[in-house]
Amino acid sequence: MAAAIHTAAIEISMTTANTIKLSQLRLSNHYANLGVAFGHKTTPQPFTNPKLIHVNPAVLALLGIDSQEVKPCQWATLGCGAKLLPGSQPLAMKYTGHQFGIYNPELGDGRALLLGEINNNGELWELHLKGAGKTPYSRFGDGRAVLRSTIREYLAGEALTALGINSTRALCLVGSDEPVQRETIETAAMLIRVARSHIRFGHFEYLFYTRQLQAQQELIKFTCARFLPEVTALPIAEQAEQLLRFSLCKTAEMVAGWQAVGFAHGVLNTDNMSIIGDSFDFGPYGFIDDYEPGFICNHSDHSGRYAFDNQPGVVLWNLNALAHALSNLVGHDKLRDCLAEFKPLLTEAYSARMRAKLGLQTKQQADQPLCADFLALLAAGRTDYTLAFRALSHYCCNQSVDALRQLLPPQQHPALEAWLQQYNQRLAQEPFFNKQRSTLMLAHNPKFILRNYLAQQVIEAAQQGDFQPLKLLFKLISKPFDEHPQYESWAAAPPESGKHLSISCSS
Ligand code: AMP
Ligand code: MG
Repeated sequence: MAAAIHTAAIEISMTTANTIKLSQLRLSNHYANLGVAFGHKTTPQPFTNPKLIHVNPAVLALLGIDSQEVKPCQWATLGCGAKLLPGSQPLAMKYTGHQFGIYNPELGDGRALLLGEINNNGELWELHLKGAGKTPYSRFGDGRAVLRSTIREYLAGEALTALGINSTRALCLVGSDEPVQRETIETAAMLIRVARSHIRFGHFEYLFYTRQLQAQQELIKFTCARFLPEVTALPIAEQAEQLLRFSLCKTAEMVAGWQAVGFAHGVLNTDNMSIIGDSFDFGPYGFIDDYEPGFICNHSDHSGRYAFDNQPGVVLWNLNALAHALSNLVGHDKLRDCLAEFKPLLTEAYSARMRAKLGLQTKQQADQPLCADFLALLAAGRTDYTLAFRALSHYCCNQSVDALRQLLPPQQHPALEAWLQQYNQRLAQEPFFNKQRSTLMLAHNPKFILRNYLAQQVIEAAQQGDFQPLKLLFKLISKPFDEHPQYESWAAAPPESGKHLSISCSS
């Protein structure tokens, strides 16, 4: 195939130590081999004119792939499904799920295919090609993903990973000149999503609600064998219970991370919930700029079901749906006991993150209200969440209140002073010096986050064929705690016009 390759945005540099050449890779297909209940083997529909936009060096390293010999044209053909890696048996996975609380039996990979998995020194990584064309589950969709949403997914996975939150990531991003109709005509793109698993809560719901209980047990065993090998000798009911516990624990950690960094997912349907607690399937997500607990990033979410401060509750709702999908195996009392563990796990994980953000290395009862008071101050002052915690980190070193005062409106200054007094008293009980504390805080309070207005800017440039801003933003959010002094403007709060951008839900 004559592929017109755009190379401008490629930047790959990594060592070749312990890596494997792409030509030597062989994918395995354990999930696809589970049988017909689990999906539909489907061939991708490649672009005729793929343009390689980006290859993710960190994900290459994760997969143990040697980047040195891979040519951009190879990535373009691989990244749009024109060529498959040896061994790949693309599969559209079947799942269902609750969307906005209502069960939808018609879901499944409607525009994505599981390509297979790579074994890197015993760690299995699945590759999933998103935007790969129609599948038996496409319903009325065209099987495509637009460049805009593909860039957003590409960046989100990297941003969350860099903030220490479990997330799917992407290996490469390929654009095209293929027109796609959304609100306007846009162009199609694809990415290869990489995760330890693409199994969603909705996979279990599908098998439960269609009473395919043999297949349900196979899926439980498959997932346990991969993530909980220590339980595989137990009876199936106990494996199911342990799987729920595992998923609940990972999910609690994930959502605690989101709440701590100010990330709103936007579409927390059960089909967008990974069984291993990865942040998964990014749509109209948003990182909070001004601290607004009820922030709704999805403009179709009229009731605020997926509002920022509702995320822990709705995630627990989703875990209930998962528990129900296991209720033929696990008794109600046990399921209830399991679900009761969510709140303490969430509180523990969230408190640990917030203590680190406040620079507290010891635990005290009063830390929770101290943190809540700071957040209340930010909410009252409509203050930028990320900048405020970064300024607090510097305050701990230089004791200058100026930066914080500049972030808060004057009417909040007395409350700020009062809070700082309490904070200083608390810090006096810590066995560490200010300088050490500040260093710790700067490693937990990012300078750069994936703000919507920045994502929008790089998308608009990319739509014009300029991928340099995308490359730069990718670099900054990959190292969000570093100073990057030459890119100060990328750390700034949005201008008023960029604060409440309407992010289209179409993708
Ligand atoms: P999402 O909103 O991306 O989580 O997708 C919800 C469901 O719609 C999933 O089953 C997707 O595979 C499917 N879907 C979303 N967009 C498309 C599309 N353009 N073509 C086909 N199926 C799609
Ligand atoms: Mg989805």
